[in-house]
Amino acid sequence: MTTTPFPPELLRDVEKRRTFAIIAHPDAGKTTLTEKLLLFGGAIQLAGTVKARKSARHATSDWMEVEKQRGISVSSSVMQFEYMDHTVNLLDTPGHEDFSEDTYRVLTAVDAAVMVIDAAKGVEAQTIKLLEVCRLRNTPIITFVNKMDREVREPFELLAEIEDVLKITCAPVTWPLGMGKAFRGVYHLLQDQVLTFTPGEERRSDAQVLKGIANPELDARFPMEVGQLREDVELIEGASPPFELGEFLAGQQTPVFFGSGINNFGVQEILHALIDWAPPPQARDTGTRRVQPAEPAFTGFVFKIQANMDPRHRDRIAFFRICSGRYSSGMKVKHVRAGRDMKLANALTFMANERVIMEDGVAGDIIGIHNHGQLQIGDTLTEGENIGFKGIPYFSPELFRAARLRDPLKSKQLQKGLQELGEEGAIQVFELEGGQMLLGAVGVLQFEIVAQRLKDEYKVDAIFEPADIHTARWLSFPDEVTRRNFEREQALRLGKDIDGNPVYLATSRYNLEVTMEKWPKVTFHATREHG
Ligand code: GDP
Repeated sequence: MTTTPFPPELLRDVEKRRTFAIIAHPDAGKTTLTEKLLLFGGAIQLAGTVKARKSARHATSDWMEVEKQRGISVSSSVMQFEYMDHTVNLLDTPGHEDFSEDTYRVLTAVDAAVMVIDAAKGVEAQTIKLLEVCRLRNTPIITFVNKMDREVREPFELLAEIEDVLKITCAPVTWPLGMGKAFRGVYHLLQDQVLTFTPGEERRSDAQVLKGIANPELDARFPMEVGQLREDVELIEGASPPFELGEFLAGQQTPVFFGSGINNFGVQEILHALIDWAPPPQARDTGTRRVQPAEPAFTGFVFKIQANMDPRHRDRIAFFRICSGRYSSGMKVKHVRAGRDMKLANALTFMANERVIMEDGVAGDIIGIHNHGQLQIGDTLTEGENIGFKGIPYFSPELFRAARLRDPLKSKQLQKGLQELGEEGAIQVFELEGGQMLLGAVGVLQFEIVAQRLKDEYKVDAIFEPADIHTARWLSFPDEVTRRNFEREQALRLGKDIDGNPVYLATSRYNLEVTMEKWPKVTFHATREHG
């Protein structure tokens, strides 16, 4: 083949996209890093904009009562900015662990992730969970070890912990020169130069660079710290693998950068790693074929639905990742699941929480589509082709509640409300034999939000009672006979999810293990793909 089948202009635009998310345990510094990245991209003018959004939520950006009361974010948004002739899409994920289900789905829509580690704390619970999700798609990970200006743990110890716990090889790219009060900067192993750090001073350029690790100026300026640095670097060169692009792209190795987000130190290196190493939008699998990002026909999928983004409109926005082709306002697309056409007018893009009407978008870009219930998580839109994208998972909930009505006459409304909230992904809904509704969540706050929304949007007063369920497993059967036998024997433990798929609801881990042992031909799945 001598000619590329892809329109060259589209190919060029796609190659310039970088779509990523930041993953971190709460408090590691995700908000701070987001804000600094946006500053570099010029998307926000004032330092503190994202922060202000985070702390002063009561002002205008707040769209939910519960969120107001708690002062936390239950939503993730998308920020697009330009950097070094590239278009960068940063998908924000809610930091609060109660909303990790949303976070998980956002991670299916990115091509890379930046993992922020608090250098004093190391690998934390939420980091482990998020990395597991990244691993499902072998998403390339860039690591930022943050807060080096504090009294922190030994860098070698931190790397060993990342490798042991997260099972990913670390390739240090920068290395700290001193730490805590004596944090003086980082040595860039690939560029053989020291970038110096001045506390409290935001670094916006590469002005303070000392070339060469043997540079005598290092001895003059940092007599207490430079010896250790040279020893460390010798050790790294002997013990750590060098950075390998292929290993990184396969999700096997992570380049590691040290810095201090709040001082804007080390942030630019992260951006450069994203531009230079992180992949452009990748080909994506559908049930029938792989879609290349520069194919001319428009395709993509919904990975998140957000309600009440604007209290004046009471609307829902479906967040849609473009996988191929080019978006243009007013275009007609096919809603594959529903089997009908729809018009994409006035799709939105998001710049630091401001809505902007989207003019043009290619693979990797995220558009927001006004949704009145027609779109669900996992839905594919195309320019006519009948394909469905794979890989947007439901995870088995960890908490369960039985829904009961105060007013039994409202059961129709309850059913409708839960069905819609379930489709939106706010909560998982299971129906038991006899029609009882069971709710499953990853975090307890999801129940409160659903209760509030049932009240506000569906005028239903529901009580959620503790349910004696430990975990759920989606089932698949090798044949009809096994299915019927299983259903007969396990009727009490069976339910259906909102799409009608059979689910086993285990009372305990032990209960699950016993049942699995007894039914070796039945497969128990801890995740299920949408659609
Ligand atoms: P998030 O919960 O992950 O979004 O974390 P934030 O960005 O809100 O940061 C949590 C806390 O750590 C805040 O008080 C920040 O000011 C602080 N912080 C963030 N980066 C640094 C850093 O580089 N050094 C120090 N000392 N504190 C930091």
